[in-house]
Parts: sequence; C-alpha cells; structure tokens
Amino acid sequence: MEPCDRCGLCCQKTEMILSNADVERISNAGYQDFYDVDPDGFYVLKNTLDDLPLCVFYQKNTNSCMIYAIRPKGCRFYPLIYNVDLNKCVIDDFCPRHSSFRIDGTECQELINYYAVIEAEISRRSSKNDG
Ligand code: SF4
Ligand code: SF4
Repeated sequence: MEPCDRCGLCCQKTEMILSNADVERISNAGYQDFYDVDPDGFYVLKNTLDDLPLCVFYQKNTNSCMIYAIRPKGCRFYPLIYNVDLNKCVIDDFCPRHSSFRIDGTECQELINYYAVIEAEISRRSSKNDG
C-alpha cells in the first residue's frame, strides 16, 4: 500500500516554501498571485480565505492538486521536511501516516541541497533590497 492515502491535510493551511525555480515554473504555466513573502523572506504558497484555508492550488471537488505535474519541489518531498533547528531531515508528524514513511538518504540530501538553494536565494534578495 502507498504510504500516502491522499488525505489532503498537507494542503490545508500550507506554509510550503518555494524556490525561485518553483515560482518561475508555475508562473510560466500561466498562474499568478499564488505566493506571498513571509517575514523571514521565504516565498510561500498562498491559502484561500475560506474558514478552512487551503492551498490556492487545491481542488476541493476532486481532492487533488491543480498543478500536480509542476507542483513545488517541497510538495514532492513532503512529508519529508528539513528541520532547521535539528539540522536534519525528518518525517513531519503532522502527516497522519507519518509512521508509514521511511527516510531515504538520497532524497534527504536532495532536500538539504534544495533548502540551501532557497536560503542562498533569500540572502541574494535581501542584499539587493539593502543595496
Ligand atoms: S498529509 Fe500525509 S497522507 Fe495526507 S496527503 Fe499529505 S502526505 Fe499524504
Ligand atoms: S501545490 Fe498542490 S501539493 Fe502543494 S500544497 Fe498546493 S495543492 Fe498541495
């Protein structure tokens, strides 16, 4: 059985961060106004303004992702996430099926590299704004 049962919980009140490449890929597919900049400078996916906020790309009628093929890289890794404080990859225990997932070393390294790219991008944006 697939570990993910597509419950959609990870698309509710999403705080998924985006790299420049994620923003560019999704924008190039014709989508606009799908991200905010959080107080730490991360690009993050927007949620709907419903009582139960959902990622703007979540389709309620089909319980699916509208941009599945081009979704942010972080959505592909999930429930594998990078814990900054522990400086390691963990399976997010918010996912109800977290105990069914195993950490794959290669994927974990890819996630760490991806996070480093995003941090470098934030740093470049912030030095541009300062300058
Ligand atoms: S919360 Fe977990 S089980 Fe539910 S859709 Fe996301 S990854 Fe799959
Ligand atoms: S982009 Fe798709 S997979 Fe990612 S949070 Fe939004 S609806 Fe879920």
